[in-house]
Amino acid sequence: MSIEILAKLSYLGIYIFVFLSGAVIGSFLNVCILRLPLGESLVKRNSHCMTCGAEIKRYDLIPIVSWIILRGKCRNCGATISPRYMIVESLTAVLFTLTFVKYDTVNFGFVYPMLLSFFLAAVIVVAFEDFDTKTMSISVLLWMGIFAIAQTINVMFFANTAYIESMTGISLPDRLIGLFAVSLPLLLIGFVITPLFYMYFLSEDHKERRKLRRRLKGELAPFDYNRVTAALKEVNGRIEEKGQVFGFGMGDIVLMAAAGLMLGFKAVVTAAFIGIVSGAIYGSFLKAKSVNEENKEDNAFAFGPFLCIGIVAAVFIGNGLWDAYVSLL
Ligand SMILES: [Zn+2]
Repeated sequence: MSIEILAKLSYLGIYIFVFLSGAVIGSFLNVCILRLPLGESLVKRNSHCMTCGAEIKRYDLIPIVSWIILRGKCRNCGATISPRYMIVESLTAVLFTLTFVKYDTVNFGFVYPMLLSFFLAAVIVVAFEDFDTKTMSISVLLWMGIFAIAQTINVMFFANTAYIESMTGISLPDRLIGLFAVSLPLLLIGFVITPLFYMYFLSEDHKERRKLRRRLKGELAPFDYNRVTAALKEVNGRIEEKGQVFGFGMGDIVLMAAAGLMLGFKAVVTAAFIGIVSGAIYGSFLKAKSVNEENKEDNAFAFGPFLCIGIVAAVFIGNGLWDAYVSLL
């Protein structure tokens, strides 16, 4: 056998190993997505059927394969098992493999694609969590930060720094700017601009409160005074009930800070761009749908999953989109 064939076979071996590891980790991610929002332990209890409660047998817990063999049905009661479990496992396996294909172990070392894969695993968890519950687990965001910091240290001190920096186009300053490039604007939009815009332009309650307060400043007959203060109390109650309006959650901001450190500022801006565009398309689709169906349900949806789609894309696009745009200018 020639050396080249041997080299190709060893690559194939690595990819198979990474794919299988990804599938197993994906099945752990399913547990995280399901249990973290409920505050349940990740290790203690065995998996149960969501319908009949029967414990799922060891041999039915093989990632991807079991779901296909059982054709998505519980062996005990025949209830449908969501294809999502299989989708998360396959997605993790495929993304891990693609990461190891793009960032080959010979030149990048094993740790670089591994940390990137772990980072993507955490991104998958918060994406589904946010989609389900509109919140992200702090612990998973923290792990994301740890993977990004570890990657920075790995590139600086343990890997082939010059090669990685020239191939990825991500330098240490790029990473440090990336930490703030999207997170800081999101922080401003989410916690300053959106609440102010809402208060002054959108909220009827706030408008009414301002009007009532102005009336209280002028001279009022005792009867009017009591009427206005009562109305003001009512409006305050309504405002309090609705709660503060934010454009983005704190989770989105931490997510984009970690992604910026991991991918550098050009890629994280690309991620935000893809996230905002896909989120806007989804949002207008929801709006059109609710107008047609005439349901007055609120169209608020979690933005995090779209930022996560952007991050996954940015891992593979890298600085490409940014560089193409800059060269157009
Ligand atoms: Zn069952």
